[in-house]
Amino acid sequence: MQASDFDLEADLEYGAQQGVNTFKNNRMVTFNADAIGLLRQQIIEAVGTETARELLLRFGFQSGYADFLQMKTSYDFDTEDDLLQVGPAMHTQEGIVAVEPIEMEYDRDEGEFYFRGLWHNSYEAQQHLIHNGESDHPVCWSQMGYGSAWCSGFMGKPVLELESRCVGMGDDVCEWEIKPLEEWDERAEPYVDALEDFFAEV
Ligand SMILES: [Zn+2]
Repeated sequence: MQASDFDLEADLEYGAQQGVNTFKNNRMVTFNADAIGLLRQQIIEAVGTETARELLLRFGFQSGYADFLQMKTSYDFDTEDDLLQVGPAMHTQEGIVAVEPIEMEYDRDEGEFYFRGLWHNSYEAQQHLIHNGESDHPVCWSQMGYGSAWCSGFMGKPVLELESRCVGMGDDVCEWEIKPLEEWDERAEPYVDALEDFFAEV
């Protein structure tokens, strides 16, 4: 299968049991985005921005890693490129964000990885603006966790996704890069600390 053939809707089973929707072996739920945004804002209020970022990064990582493992074992992809690129397709079709890859280079044997692109219509940035206003730092925390997880699973080593521009900061689009941990500077430290135990497992 090619990544471009992936169709989440076709493989979602609605009402597999009463009140249970599944994608392959995973139960999937649909929430109102405003409600998630409110929960997110309440987490920020309750524990502060740094801990909230940590929690949301970890939530995103768990989600991305579960999706990656499910996808890897459920489909027979034509190429390794397809396995990598179905990640952005999944994230987009889940309604989280529209992913526009710009540049992608990797060598799995050598452990080299570089991926850069844009996010459009980020629900997380949208909700952050509604509930918290403009931020002075990137706010698509769960999405960075998701992309980090997918690409770490793909590479079999820790790689981290960070935003350089974010709609939540007033930019017109979110822009991100994904690189191995050792290639990031000190900007990555809080993110690496938050995901340390997950990275140890990939
Ligand atoms: Zn963003």
